[in-house]
Amino acid sequence: MIKFTDLGLNPKVLKAVNDVGYETPTPIQAQAIPFALEGRDVLGIAQTGTGKTASFTLPMVHKLARGRARARMPRSLVLCPTRELAAQVAENFELYAKYCKLDMALLIGGVSFKDQDKLIDRGVDVLIATPGRLLDHFERGKLLLTGIEIMVVDEADRMLDMGFIPDIERIFKLTPFTRQTLFFSATMAPEITRITQEFLSNPERVEVARQATASETIEQKVVCFKAPNRKVEAKAKRDMLRKIITDEGDTLTNAIIFCNRKVDVDIVLKSMKKYGASVGAIHGDLDQRYRMEVLSGFKNNDITLLVASDVAARGLDIPNVSHVFNYDVPIHAEDYIHRIGRTGRAGRSGKAFTLCLPHEEKHLVKVEELLKGPIPRAEFDTPVAQDRPTRAKKQDKPKAEVKPVAQQDTKPAAQQNKKPAVQQDKKPEPQERNQRHKKGGGRHQGNQNHVVGLGDHMPAFMLRDIRAGVAAKTETPVEEDSKSKDESAA
Ligand code: AMP
Repeated sequence: MIKFTDLGLNPKVLKAVNDVGYETPTPIQAQAIPFALEGRDVLGIAQTGTGKTASFTLPMVHKLARGRARARMPRSLVLCPTRELAAQVAENFELYAKYCKLDMALLIGGVSFKDQDKLIDRGVDVLIATPGRLLDHFERGKLLLTGIEIMVVDEADRMLDMGFIPDIERIFKLTPFTRQTLFFSATMAPEITRITQEFLSNPERVEVARQATASETIEQKVVCFKAPNRKVEAKAKRDMLRKIITDEGDTLTNAIIFCNRKVDVDIVLKSMKKYGASVGAIHGDLDQRYRMEVLSGFKNNDITLLVASDVAARGLDIPNVSHVFNYDVPIHAEDYIHRIGRTGRAGRSGKAFTLCLPHEEKHLVKVEELLKGPIPRAEFDTPVAQDRPTRAKKQDKPKAEVKPVAQQDTKPAAQQNKKPAVQQDKKPEPQERNQRHKKGGGRHQGNQNHVVGLGDHMPAFMLRDIRAGVAAKTETPVEEDSKSKDESAA
């Protein structure tokens, strides 16, 4: 078996690896590191969870340990599709470069330009950036890319999904053609192949077995159900989600809830909060500080449920998730594998539930085709979602896709602070409810938060307080710089 000491890394890097506690290189590390150290271009076909981050950071630290950075001319560049991934790569550098004095700057949206400018002015060895923010800095004349010796493109397939390929091409052209390129992608779409042919020079292709099937330690279930009509589908879904979560009881220690759209991440977050759950959310439009806080809260078990979009959650290293919920069937079947791969890691058991309304069955067919078999169905009584009158209330940011019924969850913070309905509110009798609807009185009476299908049992975590700081930041306005389009698709 190959050992880290066989790879040719310098003793300071090996010492840092030893401190982290890794015993043997993963297959992608064992294959990619020797080529990277030789100065070859590497095309790594690997997805997250394979140890690919160390497969490029370790040789970079080794190579950059010699030489010095010059003002405004970084020596290496790592491009990541999302801010969280960029921050994760930066954390890796901090770990592995601790015995080599390297200066690093993280250029991501939502962080002030001034602080980032200061670092760049002083000179950095490693620049880790999302493409939009990097180009913003470049266009402001604060940055020269002509000193780049090593360039890494991480998660190129996500870059493609997010529309970053033109930016990547532009950045490639701004760097010297003599640079060494380490390029990583989980899949090789034709567009990705094209840019590797154009910008990589005789690369060594290293590939680790693609996860074609879901891990056997994951128990998968699909919950197919119907809502009484299209108008109440969103509500029925939220009710069903809570019902399953409740049903899982204390076996659910933490979970990620994936939604296809950012707007639904917001709605599910607010809905779960309203019902007293310990919950946070990540997607590309949320304030950066909030996202970082949510992520660390989730990692520390301060937050039990994480509502996420695919792009924002992609590549995040979150261990030990007991459950994954697909609030929507993913539109791209491959995302299903990525999503459910968040549970059942390292031989642990995990559960993945997928909610499926009739109009999503076409996506489910694709997922099952990819898995080469049907996913077992789980039976739950369909929650009786009521078709409730919508409010006349204006939303801050009107979004066409939000169905009117969803607006009932987008309340001002003050209103959200009322006691969770699940615990305090008396559930109106069906007759009483119907009468209220007939009169249209439900609109202003506040007691609409009856829980459908929750039963009496409430798992302990749903009663836990969310840290005030995290909860409050949900309402923080988006702090994106106008030009940066990082994660617009997240
Ligand atoms: P990545 O694919 O880079 O996101 O890494 C996935 C996880 O594997 C991270 O938690 C790393 O800390 C961990 N990891 C990376 N390399 C090794 C290794 N050689 N041995 C054990 N764990 C590793």
